[in-house]
Amino acid sequence: MQEQLGWNELPPELSPEQQSEAGVAPGATAADAPTPPLPAAATGETPFQSASYGSQMPPWSAAHAYTNLYGPKAPEKHIVATVTGNVRVTEVGKDYDTHHIVLDFGSMPFPVLEGQSIGILPPGVDAKGRAHHPRQYSIASPRNGERPGYNNISLTIKRVLEDHQGHPVRGVASNYMCDLKVGDKVQVIGPFGSSFLTPNHPKSHIVMICTGTGSAPMRAMTEWRRRVRSSGKFEGGKLMLFFGARTKEELPYFGPLQNLPKDFIDINFEPHRVSRRPVGLSQTALA
Ligand SMILES: Cc1cc2nc3c(=O)[nH]c(=O)nc-3n(C[C@H](O)[C@H](O)[C@H](O)COP(=O)(O)OP(=O)(O)OC[C@H]3O[C@@H](n4cnc5c(N)ncnc54)[C@H](O)[C@@H]3O)c2cc1C
Repeated sequence: MQEQLGWNELPPELSPEQQSEAGVAPGATAADAPTPPLPAAATGETPFQSASYGSQMPPWSAAHAYTNLYGPKAPEKHIVATVTGNVRVTEVGKDYDTHHIVLDFGSMPFPVLEGQSIGILPPGVDAKGRAHHPRQYSIASPRNGERPGYNNISLTIKRVLEDHQGHPVRGVASNYMCDLKVGDKVQVIGPFGSSFLTPNHPKSHIVMICTGTGSAPMRAMTEWRRRVRSSGKFEGGKLMLFFGARTKEELPYFGPLQNLPKDFIDINFEPHRVSRRPVGLSQTALA
């Protein structure tokens, strides 16, 4: 493996003799290669430990996250929120139309932390006559509300008008949400997520890397830190944001983010589009 890191091109194919020396039977094909052991979940022997395949630990100073307060396994199957705002946050474009949507939970408890998400239950049924499955959306507002002190959250939702192959579609939940009017009611489940959270430690440095609506949790974290700073409790933790998009016109919150003090957040915008390019390019270029 170490040797492969130095390769600029693939080594030549092994001759039958060399393959034989390496223990490959004559005429063997890739299908004959020994099957690597399956993860435990596939064999059904022991539970699959997803945590051992990635970072699932919240930052040590993160606050306790409440999850699944509303949903299929909770006593309350959903909570009804009222739309109190719906504004477009990107330029009008063929392939991007992103909305900032504010949902208010009234007197019902819905505690959230930056980095969590919620589920939306779109009304109606799918082609098979079944209720639509919930769609998840990241929370774009800080823990004390889109409007400080209010029991509300905001979401950053991009209308899906083309599928991943570029064919015209009308995404069920994203279009339902982007078309909502102030006063409309929405069925919500969640909150979800207990690991991708803001560190509370005021000196913690945070590096944020996102594209498009992936900026939603970054906006939540940035805005929470900004509020902490304006309350005088700021102790110097730095924020660095890498924001990728094909053009700045399709970056939600680009204007407000640009207005934040430079000593508070270092923003690195990564544009790379002259003409239309396939979905996924922004992520690839950022990587
Ligand atoms: C943890 C989590 C957080 C998320 N946060 C956000 C968020 O903050 N903002 C946001 O806008 N979305 C977010 N999403 C995506 C969101 O959940 C939906 O998948 C998305 O809005 C499409 O749902 P839809 O009902 O409109 O489309 P669907 O009706 O589910 O899909 C219609 C067709 O479009 C395709 N499609 C689905 N999504 C896309 C896409 N993005 N681009 C191209 N084709 C697509 C589908 O494969 C299908 O063919 C998040 C998803 C997860 C899992």
